[in-house]
Amino acid sequence: MPLREQLATTDLWLGRVAGAAPKRRALIVDSLDGRRHELRYDQLIVALGSVSRTLPIPGLVEHAIGFKTLSEAIALRNRVLSLLEIAETVRDAETRAEYLTFVFVGAGYAGLEGLAELQDFMSDVIDLYPRCRVQGMRWILVEARERVMPEVAPDLAAFAERELRGRGIEIRTNTTIERVGESSVTLKGGEVVPARTVVWTAGVKPHPVVARLGLPLTDGGRIEVDRTMRVAGHDDVWAIGDAAAVPDPARKGQPSPPTAQHAIRQGRRVARNVAAELGAGGRVRPFTYKTLGVFVDMGRQKAVASTAGIKWRGFPAWFLARTYHLANMPGTKRKLRLVVDWTVSLLFSRDTSELGQLGHPPLLAEHPAPPALDDSAAQ
Ligand SMILES: Cc1cc2nc3c(=O)[nH]c(=O)nc-3n(C[C@H](O)[C@H](O)[C@H](O)COP(=O)(O)OP(=O)(O)OC[C@H]3O[C@@H](n4cnc5c(N)ncnc54)[C@H](O)[C@@H]3O)c2cc1C
Repeated sequence: MPLREQLATTDLWLGRVAGAAPKRRALIVDSLDGRRHELRYDQLIVALGSVSRTLPIPGLVEHAIGFKTLSEAIALRNRVLSLLEIAETVRDAETRAEYLTFVFVGAGYAGLEGLAELQDFMSDVIDLYPRCRVQGMRWILVEARERVMPEVAPDLAAFAERELRGRGIEIRTNTTIERVGESSVTLKGGEVVPARTVVWTAGVKPHPVVARLGLPLTDGGRIEVDRTMRVAGHDDVWAIGDAAAVPDPARKGQPSPPTAQHAIRQGRRVARNVAAELGAGGRVRPFTYKTLGVFVDMGRQKAVASTAGIKWRGFPAWFLARTYHLANMPGTKRKLRLVVDWTVSLLFSRDTSELGQLGHPPLLAEHPAPPALDDSAAQ
């Protein structure tokens, strides 16, 4: 959703926040070309979101892929398509298995959805790769706790687990990883799984720049705010979303969970609160939204959902999830594009174009030659 389309009446600055000086009511922002600016504010709303939370596991940062941003998701899709291409050129089945094994670490809804959707995509496209098709893929979901998706009711989580096991996905609960290498991952207990794709979906933490804003933080590193989302000790600063510990109206003493359904509603409420503070009417009110439900999409037109106490599974849950996400897409034009896009993908087979090279053209004079042939190969 392009910001400039959505925010037609806003003075939009695209840049990276580097820090803040709340006493001077100033925000330090680097514009896209690297120039540093100081922006003065009357009221500041911080909504910097979160990043993947990593652990000090050897090789994790070097070899695993995150699944937090759109660019990571697109890179993962391109990567698995490239790995299929490489696997087709590998003669040894044991080595080929490294390219055809995919490990997701963290079975919250984001990890489970990511694995299920990617596996669904790959099982459709693998028919185009004869050697890979004959050998088959291996999918593993690793979770440190005793069950998948603690965010949803146990029976819905069990349904999702059965669905995934039915597709041949291995689910390892009560399991952690000890090491990640370029072509293998070591599980707790020493089992070494040959795999070149390890996706890390084991939780999020506030964006690191949050700690440079001079604002009070909770133990979890989120910005400390009251129920109106005003930052403790700062009358003119507000914080929302994953970066803030907004008290959860549904669970006393707990911060709101890091979900879009909370962040979006906090955004609306805080906008009204700031307007009230500036004298534009209304009163500063607390955030009162209580979670209505959760959707977990699993590809193959299947999902699990829980909405206002009603549990859904299979196709009805998938249809509800799609409808809900469509309703949340901002703007009629975007909604229509999405409906057309989804309808087209129902009618046709998967698009298997590998798009990783887009946006990275070679330099004008750069035509890299392959390495020179040695004498024996040239004969
Ligand atoms: C795979 C996945 C699936 C999910 N599925 C769901 C779901 O189904 N339902 C649900 O409710 N939630 C879901 N979530 C959670 C949801 O995405 C987040 O809770 C929500 O996006 C948080 O909103 P936010 O505004 O706090 O942060 P974000 O949406 O992360 O927005 C923060 C913005 O700040 C920008 N930013 C960061 N640093 C800087 C900086 N230094 N300067 C300037 N800008 C900066 C970022 O680029 C970003 O645009 C999912 C998350 C993941 C990772």
